[in-house]
Amino acid sequence: MTDEKLSDEPQGKTDLKGEPILEALREVLAEARELDGGEVASYIPQLSSADPSQVGLALVGVYGRTFEAGDSRVPFTIQSVSKPFVYALALEKLGIESVMERVGVEPSGEPFNAISLDADSGRPMNPMINAGAIVVASLVSDDEILEGLGAFAGHPLEVDDAVLQSELETGHRNRALAHLALAAGVLGSTVDEATERYFRQCSLIVTALDVATMAATLANAGRNPLTDEQVVSETVARWTCAVMASCGMYDASGDWLARVGLPAKSGVGGGIVAVDPGVFGVGTFSAPLDAQGNSVRGRAMLTSLSRSYGLHAFAHPTVKFQPPE
Ligand code: GLU
Repeated sequence: MTDEKLSDEPQGKTDLKGEPILEALREVLAEARELDGGEVASYIPQLSSADPSQVGLALVGVYGRTFEAGDSRVPFTIQSVSKPFVYALALEKLGIESVMERVGVEPSGEPFNAISLDADSGRPMNPMINAGAIVVASLVSDDEILEGLGAFAGHPLEVDDAVLQSELETGHRNRALAHLALAAGVLGSTVDEATERYFRQCSLIVTALDVATMAATLANAGRNPLTDEQVVSETVARWTCAVMASCGMYDASGDWLARVGLPAKSGVGGGIVAVDPGVFGVGTFSAPLDAQGNSVRGRAMLTSLSRSYGLHAFAHPTVKFQPPE
């Protein structure tokens, strides 16, 4: 434990240099490497071939300083980590209330691929589960997703075609969700367009450093701290972080918010992003997943960072540090 603030604020404003952050990242990564457990996603062959021993961690501060440990530049597919960012693009394009007519913001407490639709309106419960994410994808174009997610990451992103093909071949449940959304009148395109677009966004190739930069853009009120591009508005960034906080970790979202206390989103490719608004974004990568579909080592690294550095959003500012469990 330390009483140092985990911030990339330049020297002069605080006495913190970059080194303690790097040490902190290396330490939590070394601890996480020792962890066993979890299963690499196997619903398509391309994911099951991921190397389970790789572990990456990156932190990008709102002042634009980046810190990396381990396999922070190993490529993986973004999968559901894309959901908050495409949601943010849809909010930016259409406005919050218009998107709210089609997708809610209530946690479902159910697995990512559940048929979680509001009993009265037929709206998906939230944009972080597949039903909601497919509706969100129906509201934006392929180009808007590719350009927008590239703007979040700070460079153009590419699609993993083999993953996309497999998703297209096996994604029947997601097509069923899109049909239900169409029946409820909340889908903004055809079923095929919405699902293909969703599979394409899930198949984008990223690294832990990329997703940390994407998270840092949300942390920095919608402005990418590396490129200085305003990707979405402050209001949209805040709204997106709030929805990540309540719904981002599949059916472990409540437990995550209570224990870790940071808005976060995980994906079955092994990535997790977490946001400390006004301070930094973190990205983690490690392929083995727990029963809820969250990366075992990624969860451990973020839990450890939160506890050691007093990052919990609901901690009293004068009693920041949580005792070990
Ligand atoms: N492409 C995956 C699916 O929709 C993403 C799942 C995830 O990362 O939760 O089945």
